Amino acid sequence: MTAEVNRPSEAATVEATDDRRPSGSAADPEGIPAAPTEQDRPADPAGLQAAPSEHDRPADPTPDPQGQLEIPQGQLEIDVRSREAHLPGTEKVGIGALGATGRPMPDFPEPQPLASHGPARVIAMCNQKGGVGKTTTTINLGAALAEVGRKVLVVDFDPQGALSVGLGIRVNELDVTIYNLLVERGHDIHEVIQSTATENLDVVPANIDLSAAEVQLVGEVAREQILARVLRPVLDDYDVILIDCQPSLGLLTVNALTAAHGVLIPLECEFFAMRGVALLIETIDKITDRLNPRLQVDGILATMYDSRTLHSREVVRSVVDHFGDKVFHTVISRTVKFPDATLAAEPITTYASTHGAATAYRQLARELIARGGAA
Ligand code: ADP
Ligand code: MG
Repeated sequence: MTAEVNRPSEAATVEATDDRRPSGSAADPEGIPAAPTEQDRPADPAGLQAAPSEHDRPADPTPDPQGQLEIPQGQLEIDVRSREAHLPGTEKVGIGALGATGRPMPDFPEPQPLASHGPARVIAMCNQKGGVGKTTTTINLGAALAEVGRKVLVVDFDPQGALSVGLGIRVNELDVTIYNLLVERGHDIHEVIQSTATENLDVVPANIDLSAAEVQLVGEVAREQILARVLRPVLDDYDVILIDCQPSLGLLTVNALTAAHGVLIPLECEFFAMRGVALLIETIDKITDRLNPRLQVDGILATMYDSRTLHSREVVRSVVDHFGDKVFHTVISRTVKFPDATLAAEPITTYASTHGAATAYRQLARELIARGGAA
């Protein structure tokens, strides 16, 4: 989280321009990416919109001098009056400062060391849109969790293999990958897991071979549960398993969602960010109904945020309007450090350890742990 993101004046600007349009209105007076299908949906089975929306809150977002800040229902209960420690980068902005999402930024505690490891919580990074930050988030959230002593396995579930490449794996030289685990009998996941340069962070790599799996698995018995079966032998060895999904809602993604406890949805702060999210939520609902009742949406992460543009702020506001508490307080800013780190095949937490981008993913790790999304 960069300091700019938390500037109260900036957050106030966001709020000042809030036209408080009613929830569910199909019109979008400011041309903010509307999600008509989302709004038109009669029900909200995932309960994603149950949280109080922006509109339910008082018009004046200025922090209350008594410290009686309104924390939306279900959010972390944090007494902002007694806070002493601040989030890195927010020291100058005062207690109860508004975060980039327009809500008071809680102070997420430093995670306690774990006495023992496992069983893993499995989280799928999912958005059928490409280029929204799924892979970047898998690598960097994984590295940030590993940094606080969590044993993390990241699973490359995209034939592009960007996750594997981003962690320094030579994908064209691999004999066995996730593909072999999915389609051939007699392999063990231990044959495929590789350690990375980051302590506590292991990877199950993929390469272009995986693109054939979707077709090959169609005729299999329990074809949606194959990844869950593949991961089972190592669940007790890790605290968190992150699955980097490909940009589609095909059988591979259905496998990821069936194997997962939670879904993390990265959304790029761009025009039409919400397009397709209704379909994704619908898919998640179907999987919850038919295949994996424990599946929940862990959170929606705004990525590639640019605090200098009104546009970025409006997108975040509209995402919070739709999804309320499901939106992470942590927002990932747009910075060239991410593509640079990918080129260097390193997580941002080691490539540019003190940069705001690394701080942001460390904060996301703390927020996820504080929300119960990871041990
Ligand atoms: P996805 O996995 O959803 O397709 P990626 O994580 O691969 O998305 O990101 C797409 C591109 O955008 C990559 O080149 C990545 O380096 C870059 N990128 C990701 N997050 C950011 C960010 N916060 N700021 C700038 N560039 C980013
Ligand atoms: Mg990707």
